[in-house]
Amino acid sequence: MALMTSWVASANRAETPFPLNNLPYGVFSVGDDAPRCGVAIGDMILDLAAAEGAGLVTVHDVPAFDAPSWNKLMAMGPTVWADLRSKLMVLLGEGGNQDAPLVAQADAVMHMPFDVAEYTDFYAGKHHAMNVGTMFRGPENALPPNWLHIPIGYNGRASSVVVSGTDITRPNGQTKAPDADMPSFGPCKRLDIELEMGAIVGTSSQLGQPISVAQADEMIFGYVLLNDWSARDIQAWEYQPLGPFQAKAFATSISPWIVTTAALEPFRTSTPAREKGLLPYLAEPKPGLFDIALEVTMAPAGKPATTIARTNYSQMYYSSAQQLAHHASSGCAMSTGDLLGSGTISGPEKSERGSLLELTWGGKEPLTLDSGETRSFIEDGDCLTLSGAAQGDGYQIGFGSCTGTIQPAVKFPE
Ligand code: MN
Repeated sequence: MALMTSWVASANRAETPFPLNNLPYGVFSVGDDAPRCGVAIGDMILDLAAAEGAGLVTVHDVPAFDAPSWNKLMAMGPTVWADLRSKLMVLLGEGGNQDAPLVAQADAVMHMPFDVAEYTDFYAGKHHAMNVGTMFRGPENALPPNWLHIPIGYNGRASSVVVSGTDITRPNGQTKAPDADMPSFGPCKRLDIELEMGAIVGTSSQLGQPISVAQADEMIFGYVLLNDWSARDIQAWEYQPLGPFQAKAFATSISPWIVTTAALEPFRTSTPAREKGLLPYLAEPKPGLFDIALEVTMAPAGKPATTIARTNYSQMYYSSAQQLAHHASSGCAMSTGDLLGSGTISGPEKSERGSLLELTWGGKEPLTLDSGETRSFIEDGDCLTLSGAAQGDGYQIGFGSCTGTIQPAVKFPE
């Protein structure tokens, strides 16, 4: 596949994250306007609500885009998704209608692109699981006995999923030092990121009805970058036996543009070789991962950003389709707007680790930033940014960025 050209000149540059091949979906506003659906093209946004109002783009003659979320379109299913994408290709491609209403991205404020129904986070990166397991249990017991058979996950909180650019307040919580008799309560001292992809469920499944991995793949509307902010000291004290709770409940950031599965099709790649055969219900009918280069930067307040990790989504052991099929395998109903975190994406090299816990090996090997400062974990005022793109032949399918700045913990009421 090569670059598909658009009459929007900025979409034809090799370095744009948003060429005609991409067409990611977001929710934006300008000034005091109401948030509404838009499509990124080059450095512009197609105002899809206005385009629909003018009769330039319609789906089933049902108004879908003058709304602050994509959920209505998501629920319509893959045939409508494909129909919309082909109409946008014609409208914005060479020879398309240059009266289509565009807004400069620089003038727009981005909002949450969809209403999150429920949020589930997985633990499906083997390098991450090995690193964390080695730190806590030693290399022989690093992987739990179920890990090579089940995409392990926990039910997280939809209420604290926020769009990129939203400040993150350092959480308070209960922690206990190994040599202390009693736990204490106060601001998290080991605040971390987790570099992940988020898969967005478009169509729902029925209560009591399992789905195949192939069906799950067709249900996934698209992907975003996801930062699963984590309070490691709170997590270490609370996590046994039911898994993370408050350590993960305070914030999850996502990038504002939903990159559709359709745009990522040329970048499909297989999960790595199975070390133990999977049960048939988790078998993949086709490559389930995507070749997406990922990067994390860290910037102390008022200082330049330093790249602290580079990795690739293709490092995951389980795909999002496998995770979704496993999630529904008990009969759990999956809903339009469900968000599935991939799990932390780490590669085999030290520079490819997707969390500070791994990069600094539990805080024992602090990072030195370009500014000369060192970090074991995140300090107040630090800005963390994830970015990612699939690299095509002369074009890229970019995700934009997912950023958040840490604000001091709130004083807990006496
Ligand atoms: Mn996570």
